[in-house]
Amino acid sequence: MKDENCIFCKIANGEIPSATLYEDEEFRVILDLGPATRGHALILPKNHFSDLYDIDEETAAKAMVLAKKMITKLKDVLGCDGYNIVQNNGAAAGQTVFHFHMHLIPRYEGDGAGIASWKQGELSEKDKEEILKKLKD
Ligand code: AMP
Ligand code: ZN
Repeated sequence: MKDENCIFCKIANGEIPSATLYEDEEFRVILDLGPATRGHALILPKNHFSDLYDIDEETAAKAMVLAKKMITKLKDVLGCDGYNIVQNNGAAAGQTVFHFHMHLIPRYEGDGAGIASWKQGELSEKDKEEILKKLKD
C-alpha cells in the first residue's frame, strides 16, 4: 500500500534519506525540514493513508502510542516545556502532504510558535442544538 507519487511514502520507506529519530516495521519518525520549533518531528506510517479518515483504526492507535513514547523520550533530550500533537486533515485544515502524519511539536516557554492559540469564539445555542441533533439522526 504505497503511492509511488507520494514523497512521504518514499521517506517512510527509506527511498529518500531523512533525519530519522526512530524506525520500526510500520513507522518512521523524522525531523521536520521546516520546523515550527527546535525538534519538531513527524510520525509517518510506512503504508500510504491520505489522512485520518483513510487510515485503519489499528495503525491510528499505534501512531498515538508511538507519539506518547517519542515525546516522553524527546522532552528530556530537548529540554522542552510542553508538547503539541498536531494532525491536519484536508487543505482547509492546513494539510499540505496528503500522506497521514502526526506532528510532534516541542514547546518552549515564550517560543511564540502560534500553535493552539486560536481566537476563542462562543458556542451558540443554535450550533449546539443543531450539531447534537444531526449527530443523533
Ligand atoms: P502538513 O501541513 O500537516 O501536511 O505538514 C507537512 C509537513 O511536512 C510540514 O511541516 C513540512 O515542513 C514537512 N515536510 C515537507 N516535506 C518534507 C520533507 N521532505 N522532509 C521533512 N519534512 C517535510
Ligand atoms: Zn504516501
